Amino acid sequence: MNHLDFRSDTITHPTEEMREAAANAKVGDDVFGDDPTVNELEQIAAEKMGKEAALFVTSGTQGNLVSVLGHTNPGNEVILEADSHIYHYEVGGISAIAGAIPKLIQTEDGNITPEMLENALRPSNIHFPDTSLLCLENTHNRHGGIALSPHSIAEVARAAHDHGLSVHLDGARIFNAAIYHNVNVKEYAKEVDTIQFCLSKGLSAPVGSLVAGTRDFIEKARKIRKRLGGGMRQAGIIAAPGIIALTKMVDRLKEDHDNARKLAEILKGHGYKIIEPQTNILVVYTDGKFENSDEAVDFFKSKGILCVPFGPNRIRFTTHRMISADDIKRVDELLS
Ligand SMILES: *Cc1c(COP(=O)(O)O)cnc(C)c1O
Repeated sequence: MNHLDFRSDTITHPTEEMREAAANAKVGDDVFGDDPTVNELEQIAAEKMGKEAALFVTSGTQGNLVSVLGHTNPGNEVILEADSHIYHYEVGGISAIAGAIPKLIQTEDGNITPEMLENALRPSNIHFPDTSLLCLENTHNRHGGIALSPHSIAEVARAAHDHGLSVHLDGARIFNAAIYHNVNVKEYAKEVDTIQFCLSKGLSAPVGSLVAGTRDFIEKARKIRKRLGGGMRQAGIIAAPGIIALTKMVDRLKEDHDNARKLAEILKGHGYKIIEPQTNILVVYTDGKFENSDEAVDFFKSKGILCVPFGPNRIRFTTHRMISADDIKRVDELLS
């Protein structure tokens, strides 16, 4: 059976144009700085973010880890939202590799306010770890793809800076947030010291993320990436599809948002409780319908619809380029 695959926007295949670009890419040894295609991608990324420089990394996880390593010393405390991707889904890297201790702030909607941040800060005391970094996330994955506004990001980032903290934004899906709020991504990037974003999700590139920041920070991050084993050689082969992702695939993310809203309406019609989607992630509650999220995932699978468990009583659907508006209509038929 040909399943409708809503597990993640990471399942998107590269377009034909991306495959051609990969095949024809001009390459060199990027560890020597010689790969013209990687250099071009990093320059385009820096310009799009309004930052001085950018670094091509293997994944979002590596981008976040490189950033945390660049902003902290071992034993430092890092402040994170309690449901953040860095805390939940990155294999404990900030502790295992950066030696950082996480401090979590619980929120209703993924939005850390300046007041919450101030309550989480420690007074200066010989016993305490130094708190050096605030990490933010936008769109917020575990809070249902919610898109924080530039104003929210600015307020808390300014408060963090006032207290001497650096600010890193995990913007894996920052273009989705910018589309929802109808702003340029620079409005987010300008408030934070570093931003990480993924090419390999809704933007459909096969591999890679970028970290953008000051020239000095990116120089340091390049060396950290090498230490982590992320120095790549003829990486132009994978950077070339990334250039297409960044220059041609951003505007169509809006279709994914429209499809998520349509899917939400259909599932509500079938009696499901949902978190209203803002972007391309739709979280559906399973209570009252199923024992747990695994049972719900199995049920949908038996109908030809793939989704993922998202905690004990929630499942997640993600819309993306390989799901069309017609596919969304089919969901209604498959569930009827
Ligand atoms: C996917 C994701 C990442 C990590 O990206 P990978 O490329 O899968 O390592 C980081 N943060 C958020 C919010 C994500 O959704």
